[in-house]
This record gives sequence, structure tokens and C-alpha cells, in this order.
Amino acid sequence: MLCKRGKISGQGWPDNRREGSAMPAVLGFEGSANKIGVGVVRDGTVLANPRRTYVTPPGTGFLPGDTARHHRAVILDLLEEALTEAGLTSQDIDCIAYTKGPGMGAPLVSVAVVARTVAQLWNKPLLGVNHCIGHIEMGRLITGATSPTVLYVSGGNTQVIAYSEHRYRIFGETIDIAVGNCLDRFARVLKISNDPSPGYNIEQMAKRGKKLVELPYTVKGMDVSFSGILSFIEDAAQRMLATGECTPEDLCFSLQETVFAMLVEITERAMAHCGSQEALIVGGVGCNLRLQEMMETMCQERGARLFATDERFCIDNGAMIAQAGWEMFQAGHRTPLSDSGITQRYRTDEVEVTWRD
Ligand code: MG
Repeated sequence: MLCKRGKISGQGWPDNRREGSAMPAVLGFEGSANKIGVGVVRDGTVLANPRRTYVTPPGTGFLPGDTARHHRAVILDLLEEALTEAGLTSQDIDCIAYTKGPGMGAPLVSVAVVARTVAQLWNKPLLGVNHCIGHIEMGRLITGATSPTVLYVSGGNTQVIAYSEHRYRIFGETIDIAVGNCLDRFARVLKISNDPSPGYNIEQMAKRGKKLVELPYTVKGMDVSFSGILSFIEDAAQRMLATGECTPEDLCFSLQETVFAMLVEITERAMAHCGSQEALIVGGVGCNLRLQEMMETMCQERGARLFATDERFCIDNGAMIAQAGWEMFQAGHRTPLSDSGITQRYRTDEVEVTWRD
């Protein structure tokens, strides 16, 4: 799929692996949305990272109950697959990490129950991980970016983040829906396939778009808003497609150009504020090559470097939870069983980042 290895840093296999194999191996469970993944990370090396996606018919989204049912049906197979691929047994695993939140309630609970059970069966410590921090730590590991300004863009999240004083601080974010949710919901209007993902299919259609339809551009200070743009383009689609004023491809192109420009604008402003010379894109929308291209242009103009990963690591996966878990485990974090629940709302800046200086 999207495995471009181009000029943007971090598209290859991590070259920042640390030496030594007597270091802890962490198993990570992720299932906060329609992807379910189990990953194994040992000392900066991704040993396994299998994943399945719950794909619904065109015109429909994924509902929490159905998604949880999907995850429950495949999670034990994935666990076995991950261990086999890593060449490890349960004895070689030092810690079980799972996504505590944010995300959809039912899928989160299903995955947390399995993580908690496995931890007790194998007598291993447990770690509840913030999903957003999983994305950031995976991005840092894979690309080698040291202290980047992070654009985290996915179906559930849109945030511009930078590290300072033991927190990943949120400089800007969406005030309503996530950018990926805006794209996914527009894909439903056009009955675009959800396989492999609605965003990927919009990206392909956008390449054939010729006409830029003017859409609202909603940047409010450091924040962005997408719900009005979505309503506007839903109406426009009804009107303009009926009269032949534009094509579905033109609308995909226009939507991408508009919302990505908004994201680039707030990321640039955060970089200027922090004096940052690195930008890192994480989250499922982060593998969109047009977004990477627009961010790259902005970075070049500032003399900064852009870091991005491909779909294996920027789309939700188990290894990212294992990697954040690995950092937390090394820093001495443990989640007691009594506190091993989930939460649908869990902000990036709630976590004290004790593993960084
Ligand atoms: Mg995500």
C-alpha cells in the first residue's frame, strides 16, 4: 500500500535501534477504533506487528458494538501470530501494554479484558497506555526525530503537539470532529469504498480532481474546525454533482487541499512558537502523501525537516502501544489491576512523560 520511501525522512526501517537483546520485550494490544493490532517491541526493535481492520460496506461507518465483536473474534489469533512472528513465547514477554484510551468504549473494553487476562495468566505486569502517546513514541522510534512538533491526525484525533517539561502539550486541536472523521463521513456521502480505508480511496480520487471548489477555511487561532466544512461539502455534493458543475474527484481534491492547508498552517505556527526544526506526522491520515507533500513544502521553506512513517506504523497498530509501554516500563510505570480500566476521553497532556528529559 503506502510504502513510499522518498525524500521525507523516516520512511525506511528504523536505523536507531539500540544494541543488546537482554532488554525487556513488551507486548502491546491496540483496539480503540476499527483496527485491532498486537505488537511486540524489544529495545527499539519491532519484532511483530500484525493487524486486522473491521471494514464496513460503502456508505456506512463502524459502530462500537459491531467493531468490538470483530475485535473479539480475531484477537487471540493475532496474539498467536504476533508471538510466532516475533519468535517468542509467553515467557519471553516482560510486560503487557494495552490502550487505555481515548477511543470507542466497547472496542477498548474488549481489548482491555484480554490484556488483563493474559497478564494474569502469564503473571506479567500490566500497563495502560494513552493511544496518542503510542502514536508519538512510535513516530519517534521509527523516524529518529528527537524533539519534533507533532501533527497527530486520524479518524478520532486532530492535535498539534510539542514536548515540554514532562508533558506532550497540545498547541492546537480540532474543536469538533477529527480531520479523518470529516474525510470518512464525506466518503460515505459519495458511497466510496471503506476498503482498505475511505481516506486512502479519497486520496486516489483526489489525484484525478481538476477543479478547486471553494470551501470554508476554518482556522480559529491555533485550533481548527471541520464540521461546518463537512456540512457545506455535503450540500455542495448534492447540488453540484446533480448539475454536473464538478465531479466527485474535484470534491475529494478540494476537501483535501482545504483541510490539509489548515493543518499545515497551525503546525507551522506551533513550530514558529517553539523554534522547532523538526515536524513529525503521526496517525492514520499521516500516511496521506498529499498531506506529506504539503507539510514538506512548509518545512523546506522554514529550513526544517519533515518526518513521517508509512501505513504500517502511522495507522493504529499494536507495536505503537508496545513501544510507549516499553518506555513507561523502563521508567518504572506499572498499572495495578484495580486501575486497569479504560476511558473514552484521555487527553495527551494528562500523562506525565517521565521517560524523557
Ligand atoms: Mg490513532
